[in-house]
Amino acid sequence: MTGDAFSHEAFSYEAVVDAHERIAGVISRTPVLTSTTADERVGARLHFKCENFQRMGAFKFRGAYNALAQFTPEQRRRGVVAFSSGNHAQGVALAARLLGIPAVIVMPLDAPTIKLEATRGYGAEVVLYDRATEDREAIGQRLAAERGLTLIPPYDHPHVMAGQGTAAKELFEEVGPLDALLVPLGGGGLLSGCATVARALHPGCRVIGVEPEAGNDGQQSFRSGRIVHIGLPATIADGAQTQHLGRHTFPVILERVDDVVTVSDRQLVEAMAFFASRMKMLVEPTGCLGAAAAFSGQLDLRGLRVGVMVSGGNIDLERFGSLIQGAR
Ligand SMILES: *Cc1c(COP(=O)(O)O)cnc(C)c1O
Repeated sequence: MTGDAFSHEAFSYEAVVDAHERIAGVISRTPVLTSTTADERVGARLHFKCENFQRMGAFKFRGAYNALAQFTPEQRRRGVVAFSSGNHAQGVALAARLLGIPAVIVMPLDAPTIKLEATRGYGAEVVLYDRATEDREAIGQRLAAERGLTLIPPYDHPHVMAGQGTAAKELFEEVGPLDALLVPLGGGGLLSGCATVARALHPGCRVIGVEPEAGNDGQQSFRSGRIVHIGLPATIADGAQTQHLGRHTFPVILERVDDVVTVSDRQLVEAMAFFASRMKMLVEPTGCLGAAAAFSGQLDLRGLRVGVMVSGGNIDLERFGSLIQGAR
């Protein structure tokens, strides 16, 4: 299922089941937490799937490991290259280290320090680029061609999508049927994987992607039926600053997702504060998209059983502090 042979009908729940078998021994089976305060606020029963507790701090490790574990011996020897604003970089770097594969990561100059340091800490070579003037995909492709590296994109790859879907599979295994599932949306790897699982296991579950208001290309694409490209969105949700959905993720989202909604940066900060003060956990802005949508009141969730993907927890403490401070 690579290249032009890919068809979204062929991206099935079975691919997620295969991925889960492949990665189960190395990922953390993250907890599903509840909060009475959150439930009272929304009038629903919320089940938070806490991927902020995943290895390297976000669900991205699932997809990265699933992709790298399927390399041929030749691909393993030559190495992997990835471009990412952060969490995919760390996911690939950690998976590569565990599998003994050399890794080169293309990261923006302004990536959060914690993400840069973690990526280097996993032993990867980091190549920096300027978001405003350079094209990371072009840099990644050039490195791949020059050094014979295999490029693993952050979301637009069937093995990555299947790996990300395992988070929803675990959630349903743990809590059973849900009426709605709220999933952060950047390039759509997580959403396409999770929607595929929901459709297969509980077709009645409404699957809703959540984007930052400033970067609503996914919503525009979902509503217009074609992939809409936007400029670099100005949002604190750095994991969802993608400028367009992928050619693999988009058809799956169009077919299997019920709606895409947006939340403001202010609502993200409020959710961050909620998670910290009420649930005692550190969640990065992008990781708060689903919860912020639930709290916003724009979805009628009253009386429903709702799954909320909490996608990651990688944020500098200083940045966390200043965002919380700024909201007061
Ligand atoms: C990458 C990322 C997302 C978005 O995932 P996509 O697969 O690109 O849609 C959401 N939250 C966090 C924490 C991420 O790192």
